[in-house]
Amino acid sequence: MAKIAMKFGGTSVADLDRIRHVAALVKRERDRGHEVAVVVSAMAGETNKLVGWANEIAKSPGSNFPAMPDQREQDVVVAAGEQVTAGLLAVALGALGVPARSWLGWQIPIRTSGVHGHARIEGIDPEQMNESLARGEVAVVAGFQGVSPDERISTLGRGGSDTSAVAVAAGLKADRCDIYTDVDGVYTTDPRIVPKARRLEKIAYEEMLEMASLGAKVLQTRSVEIAMLHRVPTRVLSTFDPDAGGTLLCDEEDIVEKKPVTGIAYSRDEAKITLHKIPDHPGIAAAIFGPLADSGVNVDMIVQNVSEDGKKTDLTFTVSRSELARALASIEKAAPQIAYRELTHDANVAKVSIIGIGMRAHPGVAQTMFRTLSEKGINIQVISTSEIKVSVLIAEEYVELAVRALHSAYELDVA
Ligand code: ADP
Ligand code: ASP
Ligand code: MG
Repeated sequence: MAKIAMKFGGTSVADLDRIRHVAALVKRERDRGHEVAVVVSAMAGETNKLVGWANEIAKSPGSNFPAMPDQREQDVVVAAGEQVTAGLLAVALGALGVPARSWLGWQIPIRTSGVHGHARIEGIDPEQMNESLARGEVAVVAGFQGVSPDERISTLGRGGSDTSAVAVAAGLKADRCDIYTDVDGVYTTDPRIVPKARRLEKIAYEEMLEMASLGAKVLQTRSVEIAMLHRVPTRVLSTFDPDAGGTLLCDEEDIVEKKPVTGIAYSRDEAKITLHKIPDHPGIAAAIFGPLADSGVNVDMIVQNVSEDGKKTDLTFTVSRSELARALASIEKAAPQIAYRELTHDANVAKVSIIGIGMRAHPGVAQTMFRTLSEKGINIQVISTSEIKVSVLIAEEYVELAVRALHSAYELDVA
């Protein structure tokens, strides 16, 4: 008998029939003699709807301007989606004769940081859940939510139910964590834009971490971090074809064939900011990035041009598109200290990345990327690299073309 955590995403619980189907998959594991904790997302589209409601009602009467709702109250609203599915799945299991009970984040409790909307899980108290499992109940956990240090409901950022699932698996010391979704595993790239994408039998934690943080939304980045840290054997499987192969997250040593590139990720959530003619002397980078950090903006890629006259230079960097307005406001506020001549921005950009642990051993991997993009006439605006990835910023309109071309160039296409 094993202890397993299962997670079902939004499309997997999109309506009552699908919730019944999920209940049957849970029952199947229980009939095999396993103790089961199931983590569920909100029904597809629910979280977007709830976020929209909170934003809408935050506007002052008569105003058309977007307004930010109180983040703590927004969390109360958006966490409700998962509460509904947890209750419905517990009822559906009951209807199949399987004893089950629902658990909200605060009931377990799943303790998080106080950063509402992007809280990090800090700890899970597994005691009560373990007692419930020992009584033979299936634990149905509402994903995406926890409780903050001031005892308020918190949420974990979009896609956060993956993280809830892996954290619950780690907290319960489960034998494995199965993430059921609408694709049958992790692919070489998003199968929705590249029909020739191939399913990976296995992927190293480090690679999955890069894939997720560079835009492959199949797993939330933080879930991979927790899986890696606690060595939780985690699989990605299809809800609609549960016996198809799936993908196992594993240690690097367990991957025999290390191709130079394992996968390609892309992100449209990017914006580029350029400061023209800033003074080329010590302290300027600090004057720019200090205020950005203070206003909670994450800066990703950075490139500084060579100064032509030794006095003035240009600096370009990228931020998440949703943080563009905040970033521009913080730069404009610091304008006297930075002393730039002009500030420009472009939100029609996207980042495309190649990822692979094999890159360490294969020279010339980046060159293939640059050549492939140039053959397609795609201009590279910014480049950044690490040991196992190369990212480029390009015009958003070329994302799909770029991903498909790179997928073929690195011989990842299915035969
Ligand atoms: P869920 O609601 O189950 O959490 P998500 O929509 O968050 O599902 O994640 C699954 C989606 O991730 C897939 O439908 C697919 O379009 C997308 N995706 C992006 N990159 C990849 C990849 N490399 N492999 C598999 N799926 C990917
Ligand atoms: N329902 C949340 C979202 O849509 C969490 C999740 O599905 O993982 O982001
Ligand atoms: Mg998801």
